[in-house]
Amino acid sequence: MKRRELLTLFGGGAAAGLATATGREKAATVLATAPSPLQTAQTATRRGLPPLKITDVKVILTEIGGNHLTNVKVLTSEPGLYGIGCGTHAERPIIVAETIDKFLKPLAVGRNVDEIEQIWQTAWIAPYWRASVDANNAMSAIDGALWDIMGKRAGMPVYALMGGKVREGIRMFGNAGGRSLQDLEDNVRRLQQDGYQHVRINPVGGGGDGGAGGGRGAGGRGGRGAAQGGPGGLPVSQGGGGFGARGTDAAYITGLVSALDHLRKTVGWDIELCHDVHERPHPAGALTLAKAVEQYRPFFMEDLFAPEDAAWHQHVREQCSTAIAMGELFVNQNEWLPLVANRWIDFIRMHISAAGGLNLARKVAHCCEFFGVRTAWHGPANVSPVGHAVNLHLDLSLYNFGIGEGGNFPDEIKELFPGVPEIRKAVRYSNDLPGLGVDIDEKVAARYPLKTPGSNRGARDTEGAPRRP
Ligand code: MG
Repeated sequence: MKRRELLTLFGGGAAAGLATATGREKAATVLATAPSPLQTAQTATRRGLPPLKITDVKVILTEIGGNHLTNVKVLTSEPGLYGIGCGTHAERPIIVAETIDKFLKPLAVGRNVDEIEQIWQTAWIAPYWRASVDANNAMSAIDGALWDIMGKRAGMPVYALMGGKVREGIRMFGNAGGRSLQDLEDNVRRLQQDGYQHVRINPVGGGGDGGAGGGRGAGGRGGRGAAQGGPGGLPVSQGGGGFGARGTDAAYITGLVSALDHLRKTVGWDIELCHDVHERPHPAGALTLAKAVEQYRPFFMEDLFAPEDAAWHQHVREQCSTAIAMGELFVNQNEWLPLVANRWIDFIRMHISAAGGLNLARKVAHCCEFFGVRTAWHGPANVSPVGHAVNLHLDLSLYNFGIGEGGNFPDEIKELFPGVPEIRKAVRYSNDLPGLGVDIDEKVAARYPLKTPGSNRGARDTEGAPRRP
């Protein structure tokens, strides 16, 4: 009720002249207690959301297109309101599922849904020994679902909760391999026609890893020797245990230099080219490689060294300007922080669920901003679309976004995960729905149960010695 109406009702106007002493007292009392427009607005904005509790955590395991995907549905005390999170560890899905079911679910149920940081930190120290990739993935699943719930409650996409869009979409890289230099060149040109400005290449005949593009239009032309595409360009998970040629560092370096040399002479210098070394050469070979490709101005060289050999990055920095992306195997801050703080890398390439989820990754990204390090989150097909949505929402809200990885999803994935983000002309966009914008259809999920417990990558070389995948 407005002041003018109150005055009229209680005869406050001089013309009324009929107001009794009692009426004037009542009017004064109501006026004293009636909220002003400012108070009314403040009350509305400060009302917030009613407290909600976590009531259940359901693990949903699927094996689809050769990939083992682990997701959770976190249910709340508000009927029908739930969140989805990704904790996909393609090699050990059952261990992640057990960690969620036996340890994190009891920890989370009964807590307020908006205590994201509290729940994350509690889960981090709960097992005493920290930074296990299995536990990190389990935490990521719960964490992503809580961000999803917070967005749905607020009626806002998750990127809006993190400060809003810095950009309308995120530019993606494509993958190209080939059985010959001409084949490689043709595949790069096709990606250019699709709008790609960044292409991750493989040397002819394989070497490195480029098959993890995440789907049609980007992933199908990569792979080791371009031979590993699954349905819709999705690479199949790599089984292992077999013997295979690792090749010499010399042959690998020669192959990659030949590919880059050919592409610069034919396709030109306007396209950004990058390559995943996949920690294959010995450290001295990797250093030689970084120097050898410098003249071709790669956008980045990825995983030049294994995490165990990370100190070698300093030598790369001291000897050449080749840009470095690193991090898909990182699981704790002792791995990424020195590389960032010393400015030894240019792109942080962590696998967000393996590192602990969105809550952790946003802190890493903000730290990176102050050291000139851009994001290039790991985004293969064995990250679920929910995990890809986490990458997307984070990158939309970050100033220091670098490049995205992933392709458009095949129809069976779209059916299983309604709302998957789309790529148009090499740029991935959010559907702008509240939360992460991606759901999971449990009835469809029931059609894709685990057929195997996960993949083993225990590769061996031609002489039988273990080698890195
Ligand atoms: Mg990689």
